[in-house]
Amino acid sequence: MKKLLLLAISAVLMFTACGGGNNTEPNKPEVIPAISVSTTSVVLDATGTSASVTLTSNVAWSASVSENWLNVSPLSGSGTTTITVSASPNTGVARTATVTVKDTDGKLSRSFSVTQKEAGATPVVPTPDTFDGNKRSGLTYQLLVYSFCDSDGDGIGDFNGIKSKLDYLDGLGVTALWLSPSHPTSSYHGYDVNDYFTLNPLYGSAHTSASAEEDFRSLCAAAKEKGIAIYMDYVLNHSGKDNDWFKSVQSDPAGSEYKDYYVISSDPDADVAAGRIDNYGGASGPGMGSWHQLSGGSLGYTGRLHFKLDWTGATKYITVTETTEAAQTSNASASKWLWIGTDGHLEGLYETSANIFEITLNVDTDWGFLVRTSSTTWDGGTKYGGKAGASKITFGQPFALDNSTASNIVFGAASYYFASFDASMPDLNYGKYTEAKDSKAFKAIAESVDKWIGFGISGLRLDAVIWIYQTNNGNANPEFLRQWYERCNSAYHAAGNTGDFFMVGETWLGHDVERSYYKGIPSCFEFEYFGQITNALNNKNANQFAKNVSGYITSHKAVRSDAITSVFLTNHDQNRAAEDLGKSLAKEKQAAAMLLTGGGKPYIYQGEELGYWGKKDGGDEYVRTPLKWTKTGAVASKLLGTKVDNSMLSSSISVEAQAETESSLLNVYKAFAKVRNTYPALANGEMTEHGTYNSGNTSYPTIACWYMTSGSEKMLVVHNTDTSEKTLAFTDDLSKAVALLGTAARRGNTLTIGANSSVVFKL
Ligand code: MG
Repeated sequence: MKKLLLLAISAVLMFTACGGGNNTEPNKPEVIPAISVSTTSVVLDATGTSASVTLTSNVAWSASVSENWLNVSPLSGSGTTTITVSASPNTGVARTATVTVKDTDGKLSRSFSVTQKEAGATPVVPTPDTFDGNKRSGLTYQLLVYSFCDSDGDGIGDFNGIKSKLDYLDGLGVTALWLSPSHPTSSYHGYDVNDYFTLNPLYGSAHTSASAEEDFRSLCAAAKEKGIAIYMDYVLNHSGKDNDWFKSVQSDPAGSEYKDYYVISSDPDADVAAGRIDNYGGASGPGMGSWHQLSGGSLGYTGRLHFKLDWTGATKYITVTETTEAAQTSNASASKWLWIGTDGHLEGLYETSANIFEITLNVDTDWGFLVRTSSTTWDGGTKYGGKAGASKITFGQPFALDNSTASNIVFGAASYYFASFDASMPDLNYGKYTEAKDSKAFKAIAESVDKWIGFGISGLRLDAVIWIYQTNNGNANPEFLRQWYERCNSAYHAAGNTGDFFMVGETWLGHDVERSYYKGIPSCFEFEYFGQITNALNNKNANQFAKNVSGYITSHKAVRSDAITSVFLTNHDQNRAAEDLGKSLAKEKQAAAMLLTGGGKPYIYQGEELGYWGKKDGGDEYVRTPLKWTKTGAVASKLLGTKVDNSMLSSSISVEAQAETESSLLNVYKAFAKVRNTYPALANGEMTEHGTYNSGNTSYPTIACWYMTSGSEKMLVVHNTDTSEKTLAFTDDLSKAVALLGTAARRGNTLTIGANSSVVFKL
């Protein structure tokens, strides 16, 4: 009913409007401008799909867009039109824009919103800048000459072997080599130097000193061509006992021209107590080492002697007298023995009354004798002798026996030498530390360095520097080293070299003491560094890493402004890094990435880049394993004897195999070293904690995050040491990644970083 009524009314109105039966021009119907849109909101997905919106209009119109990521087509028209809205893929969070449509007069306005959903994460793909070939990193490779590479097939590494691998070292981004001691030696490792002025003949192509020098000179020159410096390992604390200097002292302790080179005393206890031993403070000092008899002098005896042991009291005594009574044969069922004779043999004593043991013997010994309570072992306090430095016996007088030091009991005047390590390495003597540079030993060894500077070396690694002066005076070693460095650096400049001579000390100390050594030398090994790595990787305290490492560097620079903090995982005296990381390849890779993206001058120890493992407890040789260059070839293992873990030296761990495998540990080292060499900020920049993900952020203990800054260049370094991925919101611009280990993806500046993954961004 209602519809019919409306139609009737309309008909009446139309008729009226047309004028009924009049002949006048009919009025045009008035057009009322109108614009409408089919929706007020559109949602696009992140991948950039488009949508259509219907614009209904009876007038001309134009459209405008609030955000330039959104495209609208067409942007103008008239009449009803289908508008297409589209966007490029969204890589960030959800975003919204407004489209406004107006008539040409601008009186009518309609709008609708377009929202594009947040992105799915985009994988981080590193796009480092091209490396200009200028290696900036200071990255140093520690190699063992005897087990690195053998060029002549004798099973012993040599200088030509190193030279043949310079391309490998260059490809690893190395800027310097620290060579194990290269002088003549009585050991395989070389830390007992027999002549500072010549080189180990075994390292020369003809196994002669001359060929060793020729090959070494050639190595220095070839390395320089590749931007690789050579550092020699110098042992200043002691020489080898087969050094001609020491052999001269052995044969003539009082008259040798080299007697001042060593720490010699005929009465060490008295000399130490009176302060006459400059480099050893005795029991009151930090002390390590022992006094040993020089073989010279009249230690032995030839003739007939009566021996009487008194075993009745807490202190045991022996009384020796010269005699003409008949000599006896050894007691086959004895409980006490003499160890005696130049050849060293047992003589059993007879119990003549309760706990009194006696024998008369024809004696021929060039070193003295000892008392034993076991005929089968020297262990467990079964050896009795004299106290160190006080073991001369006087005929007819009871001599108190000692079974802790148990030095040989001698018959004549003896001289003793001090050795911090073992008897094969007599300590060198530099006199009072304030005047060390004037000592004969200092001058002689410095002259030997001059020779090698002439060959082309540009630095030294100094062995055992904390033992040179064993006193409570903490200034002694740093002040000694200051004189040593100035002497060598002056010689380096005098030889026409630009820049300074490099010197790094084996400061095997806690950081608080170690830092004082920067008073003497420009660089020291930070032995606490690897503890920060294991703390991050094993104990999930990664958020402390940047604070502590940058703290070391700051504290070194406070001692000297040009301090270079030398950082490393492990060296030839420690269990291999892979051992402490549980032989986890993921952790080994991340340790490499951390080493090569933080502050300090990094070192790689031979084999670390291949994932070598090994523990010291079976012998140091097990952490000094030869490099395996090819899948099937031989290694330079001859000087290590049987102490080589051949199960580790599989073909898959070889350089050849790892070079072919993109994901290998070797290639992680190469990739991160290359990036470090590319960017000054990574190579030499200042390391600072990140503003959000830092030591104070206990919500992210497995994140190690820091900046490296040099001038206007700034890098962001992020390591996730966890076994699960983490999502981190940054305000830094993450658009340019330059290095990646593992996996990472980002939505805008939100980073999702995978387990044991590392990423470096250039900001
Ligand atoms: Mg060889």
